[in-house]
Amino acid sequence: MTACRTSPLLPAATALLAASIAAPTLAYDGAYLAIEGGAWDIEDGPIPFALEPAGSDDIDDDSELEALRSAFRAWACVPGTSVRFAESEEPGVVDMGDDGVNSLFWDETGDFGLGPGTLGVTSGDAGNGVRRQADIVFNGFDSQWSTDETPSAVDVGSIAVHEIGHYIGLDHPCDKPGGQEQNCNGPDRSIMTPAWDGAIGRTPMPDDEEGVKALYPDDGSGGGCDGPFRKGEACSCDDECVEGLVCVQPPGGGRSVCGELCASDDSDCGGAFACVLGMPEGDDRAEGVCVPSAANAKPPGAVCISDGDCASGTCALLFDLARSICMEDCDDDDDCTEGRRCYDGFCLGGTSHEACPVPPGPCGCASSSSSGAFGSAVALLAAGALLARRRRG
Ligand SMILES: [Zn+2]
Repeated sequence: MTACRTSPLLPAATALLAASIAAPTLAYDGAYLAIEGGAWDIEDGPIPFALEPAGSDDIDDDSELEALRSAFRAWACVPGTSVRFAESEEPGVVDMGDDGVNSLFWDETGDFGLGPGTLGVTSGDAGNGVRRQADIVFNGFDSQWSTDETPSAVDVGSIAVHEIGHYIGLDHPCDKPGGQEQNCNGPDRSIMTPAWDGAIGRTPMPDDEEGVKALYPDDGSGGGCDGPFRKGEACSCDDECVEGLVCVQPPGGGRSVCGELCASDDSDCGGAFACVLGMPEGDDRAEGVCVPSAANAKPPGAVCISDGDCASGTCALLFDLARSICMEDCDDDDDCTEGRRCYDGFCLGGTSHEACPVPPGPCGCASSSSSGAFGSAVALLAAGALLARRRRG
């Protein structure tokens, strides 16, 4: 499945004329159109994305990367949806396809063949029940980009929020898909309309909100885009996670995410997580935490079924716990990496989670220097009156 936004680069008058000739007499009769099999399974965590660090050659302050993050966030903050995103710790790449990285990047060379009329293309798998990979390429070869509403440039946020709509499984709200769209709902009601009029539009509109809520309805966990956070979302301490989850620091460091507790006798963490056991408290039971993990690269100390589950390549039975564990073998703690400890020849633990620090209560202290920082950042979007007429496909 590929969907894109185009810009024909016609003189404005011609574009307007073409638009009036082709003006639809009927709008598409739904609010949104979903891509068959284009939605992700978010039960086990947020939708991953990776930003290619170079971004756009036209922008040298990385504000385009922030604009991309803001566009993801705009979708996550639609009330009544549980869609969430997690930026990968690994950088994105200038590549599309099933390469294990869901990259957003600018094509500055024209190698991806978007052509002068196309501003961005989203490519993702579809038809497999749930989406497993997607990429977004922006046309840096034919188009000038900006984040500061430069009139002649393409606004990163306005195109990104549209492409991310495709990324999460929404199609153009039109009668016919695949470049033959007719009777599309217009930009007055849908950011997913294929025609971009050059106006700054960096948030989903009412029709788009209906679409994202239908694909990713609120799961009732109580999470919000500003927290509390759901499983797999980044966190810094336990209380930032929704009820029942803790903020898990994975072995060896890396980003902490909200996850469940588990134990040697209750080790189901869901598909994208592994139950890493800590030191047994008694003879036959150990508690642990669920850490994000690829199914074939579980860390030492994780409950496993076969050697292929383990990053170490060895899944062996720990008799005391009656569980097979990904093995990093040891004689004592010094043999274990990443803070793990040695138990009966197996390195265990290395994970942690912490309650949030209790804010100091009123104490009558003379100093007021410890008052909390309440940064209230209100971003006001001044809608620029752009004259450029563009089409987004
Ligand atoms: Zn599109």
